[in-house]
Amino acid sequence: MGSFIIFWFSVILTTSAEFVWRHHNNEELIQVLEEVNEKCPNITRVYSLSEPSVRNVPLYVIEFSDNPGFHQAYKPEVKYIGNIHGNEVLGRELLLGLADYLCEQYLRDERSIRALIHSTRIHLLPAMNPDGWQLSTDTGGQDYLIGRNNNHSVDLNRNFPDLDAITFEFERQGVNHNNHLLKDLARLAEPLEPETRAVMRWIMSIPFVLSAAMHGGDLVANYPYDASRSGAPVSEYSASPDDDTFRELALAYAFAHADMASVNRRGCHSTSSEGQAYNFGKQGGVTNGAAWYSLKGGMQDFNYLATNAFEITLELGCEKYPPERDLAREWERNRDALLTYLWKAHIGVKGIVSDDTGFIQNAIISVVNITGHIPRPIRHDVTTGVYGDYYRLLTPGHYELTASHPGYFPVSRVITVPHFQNTATVLNFRLEPTSSWFDDVTNFGQYPHGVLSQERRIYKRSLYKQVINTMLEKKESGTQ
Ligand SMILES: [Zn+2]
Repeated sequence: MGSFIIFWFSVILTTSAEFVWRHHNNEELIQVLEEVNEKCPNITRVYSLSEPSVRNVPLYVIEFSDNPGFHQAYKPEVKYIGNIHGNEVLGRELLLGLADYLCEQYLRDERSIRALIHSTRIHLLPAMNPDGWQLSTDTGGQDYLIGRNNNHSVDLNRNFPDLDAITFEFERQGVNHNNHLLKDLARLAEPLEPETRAVMRWIMSIPFVLSAAMHGGDLVANYPYDASRSGAPVSEYSASPDDDTFRELALAYAFAHADMASVNRRGCHSTSSEGQAYNFGKQGGVTNGAAWYSLKGGMQDFNYLATNAFEITLELGCEKYPPERDLAREWERNRDALLTYLWKAHIGVKGIVSDDTGFIQNAIISVVNITGHIPRPIRHDVTTGVYGDYYRLLTPGHYELTASHPGYFPVSRVITVPHFQNTATVLNFRLEPTSSWFDDVTNFGQYPHGVLSQERRIYKRSLYKQVINTMLEKKESGTQ
């Protein structure tokens, strides 16, 4: 009898690791992640963000990597964030399913999944707002607003520091300072919620390259900027400097989805008072954020303006809280899109900036698109991380990249980004320190990222050589 019970107990233990498509509560959520971690201990790690929700629920993340817990040079980092609005739950379940799928496929030696995990560090945060999920679930899950906010009744996707206002002001003043703007923030409009603070610390502490935040209530991939420049509430296209790249990222998800980009599908909210429901499929299943409606304090613009990460916002379906029976079908409709998007961390150019002694951290990579007849600077620089590594997502074309850092001569190189990349084109930079006398020459001692709008952004290495030679001659003739 005793062995019989142990036998059945072990059967239950074994079958409990089988992923089931259903709504997982906050305790079951961490169980799923731990089960995946037990099945795939060598390629996963479960951790929680620096602080829990208002009601003390930890914000759990599962990481996939061939070296969990560590950033590796040349390996871009990606994140998916679900359930930001507590009553928008599909992303939460899709991320739990995705975690199980990545692990299972890896164990089955599925080639592309193994290649993805060996070349990418992936972080999945299924629920940013577990308290809202609880309230929404406890009240039936069908209300358009109940459970949307956190337990302090704050909308987390309006609670991030408003860096759009800063970048728009710099634009107006002609100031060419366009990235890592958190340090330019004078004060917060609203106090930060614990969930926001935890996610901000996370965003700032890991060198993410690519990200998507998951919502529900429509079916569209939405890209920056979310805030309009004029303050108009709707219908004002608010392009970021990386508009081409963001469009490509959003289109990649939409076209790999079952029908996000379908011209003939029905729009959501056909019963609304605004009349005919709009079908975003008519525009490829994508929209600029402010062209739809403008919002301040959103997470995607914060990612772009505070860090090197490019984030888009996915509206995964008309229903915010779909019934359990729809979840497996929704997974099938989203699976290819979820995987396709993760691979997008490998578009563009990546490399390492170093000098004779080692890596150069916080070097600046600036880009000019030279594909057309007129060179177009992309006024959003990225910076190098602890291993001197950078990742510059770009669409196919020709570019001039410049690596610069105070105390070094900037170096520019021309490079072509091909179509259909499984890995970014590698472009490393070796910088040479400037000599001390050169720093005294103010005319040429400026770096491309000074605050004067009229200054030239791109300094050719050859130009510096000419300048040095000219001045050396002067120096020599002066001493005669
Ligand atoms: Zn939402």
